[in-house]
Amino acid sequence: MADTADVLVIGGGPAALCIASELHQRGVVVEGIAPNPVDAPWPNTYGIWADELKMVGLEQLLEHRWSDTVSYFGEGGIKAQDQSHGHGIDYGLFDRSALQRYWLERAEGVVWHQDTAERVEAGAATTTVTSASGVTLQARLVIDASGSRTPHIRRPDQGPVAGQAAYGVVGRFSKPPIEAGRFVLMDYRCDHLSEEQRSEPPTFLYAMDLGEGVFFVEETSLALAPGVPYDVLKQRLQQRLDQRAVEITEVIHEEFCLFPMNLPLPDRSQPLLAFGGAASMVHPASGYMVGALLRRGPDLAQALAEVLANPALGSEALARRGWQALWPIELVLRHQLYQFGLSRLMGFNEALLRTHFATFFSLPREEWFGFLTNTLPLPRLMGVMLRLFALSPWELRRGLVLGASPRKKPRW
Ligand SMILES: Cc1cc2nc3c(=O)[nH]c(=O)nc-3n(C[C@H](O)[C@H](O)[C@H](O)COP(=O)(O)OP(=O)(O)OC[C@H]3O[C@@H](n4cnc5c(N)ncnc54)[C@H](O)[C@@H]3O)c2cc1C
Repeated sequence: MADTADVLVIGGGPAALCIASELHQRGVVVEGIAPNPVDAPWPNTYGIWADELKMVGLEQLLEHRWSDTVSYFGEGGIKAQDQSHGHGIDYGLFDRSALQRYWLERAEGVVWHQDTAERVEAGAATTTVTSASGVTLQARLVIDASGSRTPHIRRPDQGPVAGQAAYGVVGRFSKPPIEAGRFVLMDYRCDHLSEEQRSEPPTFLYAMDLGEGVFFVEETSLALAPGVPYDVLKQRLQQRLDQRAVEITEVIHEEFCLFPMNLPLPDRSQPLLAFGGAASMVHPASGYMVGALLRRGPDLAQALAEVLANPALGSEALARRGWQALWPIELVLRHQLYQFGLSRLMGFNEALLRTHFATFFSLPREEWFGFLTNTLPLPRLMGVMLRLFALSPWELRRGLVLGASPRKKPRW
């Protein structure tokens, strides 16, 4: 790096591209470091409610879009086969390369170093990053956007971190595994499981019709520490398909997913800033994050561009301002509420979870949507949680207040 950049971004995923592009748009001199070329395809598929994308004017980034969006919260059984709960709003899958291109075009001119950040040392004025190949890079502020596993960001140890685990198949099937043209957010029907399996931590099906005979079916566990093993998820998916007499005839892609849902918030006094998974921005109730990047990236970049205009400020002061802008007290409190909610849900058995989600999705649309997208102001969010409590049957209320009764230890 010839001169010291204003900001060095570590990472080449959605969070890195988002913050690099937003800063660049505001005239900040940005560089980046990532092990792979920043236009290399991303491995994950990213889903989002279409209205969440509409809020930021980017609906054109969807590759697939469904209006028939449903969940199943019944136990199952022949009579209940199609007791679906319609969500009444559209859901979509990002066109990953279009999302990547959108950010890269806005970051045109940003220098990307193809390398891995190994050591990060903050000094009074600048921060130095040493790469795996021995190169040293300096910037007034370093933003770690290298994902939730980063070793560079300090955060309190609050015990085991619960992970959302999922095993999925994009493929062709002997007959449609779900109704044609449909998106299934959560299928909690469980009549394909043995009694013993039903006493173990519950999982649900997340599935969609991708068109031209291709479907994506994914067995998912909301959150558990440690995460549900892939072989258990795979076996449950197979049982689900067997019960419907559906065979997989072609596997186009397998998805193995595990990411933390309740990662503690970072220590916000450290002189290094973070963004994305590294900054614990995954929504603890839903596991989604891309919408939050698109909403929060511009505000963070604006706050940083303003403080960077003062040349007297060094890494510590810049990072402090960044943390305040990224995690203002309002968002910290909302995050704590979500984490409390998740801790309760994690102890629920399958029957309680089904009752919980059926009650949750009976809330007015703007309430459940606002809750899931973290777009309700704190007083409104608290109101929604109280309303949910009031609507809940007694057994569920007991679980929400006291936590569920201890579950038998799973076999895995
Ligand atoms: C399988 C899966 C499915 C998901 N689906 C959704 C979804 O549908 N919707 C949604 O909103 N969220 C989803 N998430 C959650 C979240 O949005 C993703 O995890 C998202 O990829 C996180 O973005 P990120 O940029 O913070 O981290 P990552 O995507 O993990 O990117 C980290 C980047 O940093 C780079 N890196 C790592 N270490 C270093 C280093 N030392 N130096 C330099 N670079 C480094 C990596 O190469 C990578 O480019 C999903 C997560 C997973 C795992």
